[in-house]
Amino acid sequence: MKLKCVNCAETYPPIMIYSCNKCDGILEVFYEKKDLNDLNKEHLEMNKVNTMWRYSDRLSIGDDDNIISLYEGGTPLHFSKRYKSELNFFKGELYFKDETVNPTGSFKDRLVSVAISKAKEFGYNKIVCASSGNAGASAAAYAAKSGIDAVILAPQSTPKEKVIQILAYGATVLLVKGHYSNSYKLAKELSERHNLCNVSTTYLNPYGTDALKTVAFELNNQLKGEVPDYIFIPIGSGPLLKGVYQGYNELVQSLGNIGATMPKLIGVQAEGCAPIVSAFENNKEVVTAWGESNTIASGISDPLIGYEKDGTYTLKLIRDSKGSAVSVTDEEIKKAMRDLSQFEGIFAEPTGAASLAGFRKLCEKGAINSSSRVACLITGHGFKDMKIYQEMENGLHYINDISDLNAFL
Ligand SMILES: [Zn+2]
Repeated sequence: MKLKCVNCAETYPPIMIYSCNKCDGILEVFYEKKDLNDLNKEHLEMNKVNTMWRYSDRLSIGDDDNIISLYEGGTPLHFSKRYKSELNFFKGELYFKDETVNPTGSFKDRLVSVAISKAKEFGYNKIVCASSGNAGASAAAYAAKSGIDAVILAPQSTPKEKVIQILAYGATVLLVKGHYSNSYKLAKELSERHNLCNVSTTYLNPYGTDALKTVAFELNNQLKGEVPDYIFIPIGSGPLLKGVYQGYNELVQSLGNIGATMPKLIGVQAEGCAPIVSAFENNKEVVTAWGESNTIASGISDPLIGYEKDGTYTLKLIRDSKGSAVSVTDEEIKKAMRDLSQFEGIFAEPTGAASLAGFRKLCEKGAINSSSRVACLITGHGFKDMKIYQEMENGLHYINDISDLNAFL
């Protein structure tokens, strides 16, 4: 295992660096083909068998004693019946990969578990994380578990539930003026000046990003090797999409042509902050930063200012997979939130439901073959951002006594 620049292919030993020394490119954890061993080994202690650590042979931690785990991953895959009918998607298969049930309520736990395990392995006693909320909550929880101090930088607009969750785990929280990119920049400075391990969940931490491939391994296992035609993924800068890409890429390499192929990856952004979708729709190779972001989907409200290259890389992966990118309005996201909870029993925050909103949009446009197999990643729990649900029409009735009840009935 080594680190490899996705831009110039320069390689590095597995040390803690955040970008290529030669070209400032994104680094990924690179496995030689001979290292892509059988994924069905289950040699772990029993209670880790149903977590992402069943794939620990493909994760970057050298010594199992360094693993900081709250039992992340191993999330359920729901087969949709009611919503599928609602959409007239009768011939197709629709699945929801429910990442809301991770220990702190979002998929970020996979990334952070490995990033903080790695920080421990490298001997750090402090971490820093720029976050729109979920990564910060995750970093704070895993830091607490490991006894490492955590500093979390988040935009002042971060939903209060997320801020409260971060504080509850005992982290230091710095609320930063302006959009996410400001928090990102300050976290980078703090990390460089004071030697804090940076576990921000953009492409900065190659070990963390690498862990997101376990989503693909689990999907492949849960679908018994059947590959979805499309996977819908909410994206800010896009490490989750990279994780799914890398997971299927490794499966293709290790299983050869008897097994996996690459699904079409669909990146979903909010219309109020859609730098990658904009570049995709305008047939551009390079992503440019977004101006003023304005959306209820705080988890993907990332204008990419100063790290536009992250978006460019995600765009490349989308095209390599023959996928596409789609933006959805806040109203479409709200409808998807309501539909997910009322047809499927899954309670998601706005970002978490954006994948479904994207699927619905492409379905209604006729861009999805009606007999396709589709998976939507539901990335974060509804408890994390209650304001939007509170503002929605909720059909609440007030009853004072039996006469009110009789009148109501
Ligand atoms: Zn490079």
